Amino acid sequence: MSTDDIASTPTTSRTPAADLAARAHLTVSATVRADVHAMHAYPVPDAHGFIKLDAMENPYQLDDRLRDELAGVLADVALNRYPVPRHEGLIAALRVAQQIPDACAVSLGNGSDELIHLLLQICAKPGAVALAPLPGFVMYGISTQLNQMRFVGVPLGEGFSLDRQAMLDAIAEHQPAVVFLAYPNNPTGNLWDVEDIEAIAQAAPGLVVIDEAYQPFAGATLAELPLRMPQVVVLRTLSKLGLAGIRLGYVFGHPAWIDQLEKVRPPYNINVLTQATALFALQRIEHFNAQAACLRRDRQALMIAVAALPGCTPYPSAANFVLLRVPGGAEGAAAVFQGVKARGVLIKNVSGMHPSLAGCVRLTVGTPEQNDIMVAALAATLQELKS
Ligand SMILES: *Cc1c(COP(=O)(O)O)cnc(C)c1O
Repeated sequence: MSTDDIASTPTTSRTPAADLAARAHLTVSATVRADVHAMHAYPVPDAHGFIKLDAMENPYQLDDRLRDELAGVLADVALNRYPVPRHEGLIAALRVAQQIPDACAVSLGNGSDELIHLLLQICAKPGAVALAPLPGFVMYGISTQLNQMRFVGVPLGEGFSLDRQAMLDAIAEHQPAVVFLAYPNNPTGNLWDVEDIEAIAQAAPGLVVIDEAYQPFAGATLAELPLRMPQVVVLRTLSKLGLAGIRLGYVFGHPAWIDQLEKVRPPYNINVLTQATALFALQRIEHFNAQAACLRRDRQALMIAVAALPGCTPYPSAANFVLLRVPGGAEGAAAVFQGVKARGVLIKNVSGMHPSLAGCVRLTVGTPEQNDIMVAALAATLQELKS
């Protein structure tokens, strides 16, 4: 389609606005990548007025005293200045609060989502492959496609464990530039066997990203792995710890990887408000760690409560959510999602994400009160569906 064609598109029967729209769409479809054109934007449901237990957010806000203190800190931030290109002070605070090994270098991202994108970007040679177990975190696949790489998903085994042999076979066949392993995994919530992970990392010919987004709830970490396996980097975020709104992710590993990443990282990707807020929070990390401990305890209570619901099976979780299989397969999950929503609670229907998740919903651990309301809504919905 040339601009001549667009210019000569008949306009007589249209309003000026409709004509402009028609010309915009023509130019867009002639110009934008076909795969992007065919995509849908990442759906984020309107949560207004709902108890929001669908996105693994920490349900607790800062207490009033900390909020007042933070307000004072933010008031002094120089909004008229660009951020520094590298936030060394923030990185130093992360090293202490989040136990990053001294020998590792660190990069910061506007959420770990951005780092997933940038890690792929530095490896995105034509024809390169990224590989991850499925079901897994959806952004691995999306970012792989946006970087014009090929995504290979390897089904998990029994009980959502890693299928070590299938992973090794897929690695041998596809020679992936990047392998993603989430520890614990989203949306299944489980921690994989460390020996399986190490065997897979050992076999990988390129970069291995261990995604520890849920580390605050896991009671386990593979933070030391990059010291023994230089192909491994560890990805983390402050989002699930209670700071999803500020968007701060980080990755650490051998400086050889971080040096490359720093070349493609947008120079001002961490804004001054994020920097100041993150530093403030990391200096008071015990506050957030205490909340994480509460959520771990409440996860156990939630697990027991949903296990008692008729026909429901929760899966073991090392994260701040519980994967729950409800009766009735995909239709059952859709009906449960709707019924719980009608009772004012938003959960996530993950049933359509992968065949092995048919009939599954994902419940974020909220406050004890929110969890009680969610369980009551589940119970009432299941009762209603039975009759
Ligand atoms: C939530 C999540 C992330 C992304 O977190 P950000 O908010 O972008 O830092 C990364 N990986 C997994 C597995 C997640 O569930």
